[in-house]
Amino acid sequence: MSGAVCCRCGRPTLAPVAVRYVERASGPGVTVYACPDCAPRLTLGPSSAGLTPPPRG
Ligand SMILES: [Zn+2]
Repeated sequence: MSGAVCCRCGRPTLAPVAVRYVERASGPGVTVYACPDCAPRLTLGPSSAGLTPPPRG
């Protein structure tokens, strides 16, 4: 296990971060990974996904 594909940007990363665990009715669940860049945005929750950073002059 040397890496995973980010669920957000779709790029492979060598340092995947588990952000979600999807349970399946039949069979084992699937862990969703994200790259370190996308992980903070995903782990903060879906409500914060639409937040935009404050404008900088
Ligand atoms: Zn990513």
